Amino acid sequence: MKKKTLALSTKAIHGTEMHPYRGPVSLPIYQTSTYRFENSGDAIRYAKGDTSVYVYSRYHNPTVNDVEGKLALINDAESAILFASGMAAISTAVVTYVHSGEEIVSIPAIYGGTYRFFRDILPKNDINVRYSNSGAMAEITALLTPKTRMVYVETPTNPTLAVVDITSIMKKVKAAEKKFSIRILTVIDNTFATVLNQKPFELGVDLIVESATKYIGGHSDLLAGVVCGKRSLVDPIRVSAKYYGGCADPFMAYLLSRSLKTFVLRVTEQNQNALLLARALEKHPEVIRVLYPGLPSHPHHKIAKKQMSGFGGMVTIEVLGGAKGAVKVCDSLNVAVNAMSLGGVETLVSIPVYSSHVNMSAKELAAHGVTPGMIRISVGVEDVDDLIADFDQALRKLR
Ligand SMILES: *Cc1c(COP(=O)(O)O)cnc(C)c1O
Repeated sequence: MKKKTLALSTKAIHGTEMHPYRGPVSLPIYQTSTYRFENSGDAIRYAKGDTSVYVYSRYHNPTVNDVEGKLALINDAESAILFASGMAAISTAVVTYVHSGEEIVSIPAIYGGTYRFFRDILPKNDINVRYSNSGAMAEITALLTPKTRMVYVETPTNPTLAVVDITSIMKKVKAAEKKFSIRILTVIDNTFATVLNQKPFELGVDLIVESATKYIGGHSDLLAGVVCGKRSLVDPIRVSAKYYGGCADPFMAYLLSRSLKTFVLRVTEQNQNALLLARALEKHPEVIRVLYPGLPSHPHHKIAKKQMSGFGGMVTIEVLGGAKGAVKVCDSLNVAVNAMSLGGVETLVSIPVYSSHVNMSAKELAAHGVTPGMIRISVGVEDVDDLIADFDQALRKLR
């Protein structure tokens, strides 16, 4: 059987190993920090560079390695590294490649944690981030300079669900690489779409970073991050990960292997529920606008249709009455849970000005397209009729 022809769901469940051995169906947890050598020959082989010898769990662990293999496989990547969180994955990837005096080009509407890392930490290391003001990065060419080392994008964006045209960005990056004779690394945070709905490597992107805390984990019970790409690009990140130390632990990796078994089922259902809920909310008189890339009314619906195979489980609405209205709706919901984060089987709601976009000036909020009356909905896998009825009764409280 050719492994390349396997479908995403099969790869997520079985990984690279088509179970050649007799043993447990579920992945064993190697809950150990270190490994017993058969004799010192193992230590000597390791010292001479044989990476197949397990020595210490900050470097490698069989449970973690199994999940890294599955994550690489589903993303069609040569290699993947698992991290303790999405931010560990993102920060380690960025500091591995961008150094003092170099620049990153990005958009303001990236994940709040990444934005604050770029704003508050990187400048201390003399790394400058230039932002494209339009969500679509239309004017990116003007921002690329001989100092540009990385273009970092996220699509759909949080919480406005703008869709960035990856193909158009790649063309402009290639042109700048030629013009300045430099190599610019393109990185995408694929957390919101996931590989089920968006395949950035097919569009030429170099590295995918992702918070596996969200859709890959899917049960709101773990923190994890992943970086994947060509082996030559991932290997240097694996080296710095050893020293920055944001490595994954075996129990989290086990939980992820469990989650991967239902990844396609869950996200397919979330795509479907989100579209149905978005359509219902669009008809609601208390809702000023619904932002969902799958709706024809979405300003980037055309790009979304070209670039995505599904539109994801995130829906953002703006309700009447500003922040007060948003609070009233969130406090009146019975099925949807008022909590931060996203991607789990349970529907969660949060108010961006009080969560992902707290500590931002009015100017920054405007640049991110965030308004006080916005509610971000992470649609779960509950019965969609229960969700529609729940939002309906909560929105009616605004009358
Ligand atoms: C949550 C999130 C992150 C950060 O991931 P953690 O696992 O919380 O560290 C990064 N990017 C996006 C888009 C996210 O939603």
